[in-house]
Amino acid sequence: MGFVIAIDGPAAAGKGTLARKLSSHYGFAYLDTGSLYRAVGQAVRDRGLDPSDAAAALEAARTLDVGKIDERAIRTREAGEAASVVAVMQPVRDAILQFQRDFAQNPPEGLPGAVLDGRDIGTVVCPDADVKIFVTASPEIRAHRRWLELKTSGSDVSEAQVLEDTRERDRRDSERTVSPLKPADDAHLLDTTNLSIEAAFGEAVRIIDKSMR
Ligand code: C5P
Repeated sequence: MGFVIAIDGPAAAGKGTLARKLSSHYGFAYLDTGSLYRAVGQAVRDRGLDPSDAAAALEAARTLDVGKIDERAIRTREAGEAASVVAVMQPVRDAILQFQRDFAQNPPEGLPGAVLDGRDIGTVVCPDADVKIFVTASPEIRAHRRWLELKTSGSDVSEAQVLEDTRERDRRDSERTVSPLKPADDAHLLDTTNLSIEAAFGEAVRIIDKSMR
């Protein structure tokens, strides 16, 4: 089994950017587990159904073809909301759990390790991960970052609306009974509110290098 790095934290804390940079730094595979929930939520929406439809969500999770995820379609605000709705359903989580564990244990192309980011990697998916980092930032700065991303991709949503969405998503992710968003007991906390991407990356590398030694 390779080296496993678990990166968890709330929406738009900078997990994705950090995890991607770490995977290329160490030559590891990268899995954005949020994209799986987004793809499931979006698949239900594509059928004209409501993401809260448990049967449709489970069907979408069971038939999810990870190689065919439409990256553009899942990055919308609506897909993010739908993701957090289907993510509260235990059967949906169970349906995609094994894929995530297999990825961590046998990274594609025989790579020597994997970086997974999400909400429950250190607590549920990979409780034995070699390093766990819980990335946070204030809701205001996270909303600002997400708003900039959405604006770049052509959305005209207001920053106030994105802040409201962020708070709602935090509430749903933290208060749910199944795999709630919370740091694992052995996670390192990394607050990126006042850190540049480079500074956050440097801090993460320091933490990881220490546990590789
Ligand atoms: O990280 P991202 O914003 O793409 O995740 C979308 C939603 O998917 C989250 O708000 C959360 O509800 C859900 N999710 C989850 N567990 C994960 C990853 C994402 O519940 N490991």
